[in-house]
Amino acid sequence: MKNIIIFGAPGSGKGTYSDKIVAKYGMGHISTGDVLRGEIKNGTELGKIAKGYIDNGQLIPDELMIDILAKTYDAEPAGKGVIFDGFPRTIAQAEALKKMLAERGHDMGVMIELNVDEETLMARLLNRAIEQGRADDNEETIKKRFEVYRTQTAPLAEWFEKEGMRNTIDWQKNNSMDAMLSAIYKVIDTANA
Ligand code: AMP
Repeated sequence: MKNIIIFGAPGSGKGTYSDKIVAKYGMGHISTGDVLRGEIKNGTELGKIAKGYIDNGQLIPDELMIDILAKTYDAEPAGKGVIFDGFPRTIAQAEALKKMLAERGHDMGVMIELNVDEETLMARLLNRAIEQGRADDNEETIKKRFEVYRTQTAPLAEWFEKEGMRNTIDWQKNNSMDAMLSAIYKVIDTANA
């Protein structure tokens, strides 16, 4: 299986669709947000550093994040393909990912961009706050995360476009989770055909 980069704003469904993809294709799954929340839960040094950034809706510095990503990737079983969920979030991270994979003889595979309007995103995140109690799912922090997404992460879509990897799937057009999923599976099946 080719690697997959699942890309989109907070609340766009990266984690939810990744779980479905994992169940269908048996791939590995690296969610950098989950890795960081695990470190916080375990009270590690890294967790203490990460908490300050996460609670403020800011990104963890690139060097630290790139290092964590490489270690997590190397711990995955080889050959099954991996979904990168929540990474890369900056151009520097994307360049580092490309280099890290090339050094291992692997490539980035296919990028799937989930395009969802901000009103829908906000409603989903406020709902997730009630259901999952994530510390960064409050209105003030969500607004900061949207701003960080717009300024630091969204420009990356163009970077993927230039790499010839960008596949955008639009919530407005599909408007149901099942329709989104079939569009996602189609991209994955075409890439692996
Ligand atoms: P997520 O669960 O993907 O929404 O990530 C939650 C938070 O973890 C983000 O708001 C960031 O503070 C941090 N984070 C996760 N992935 C990254 C990354 N690739 N680069 C920098 N910070 C990250």
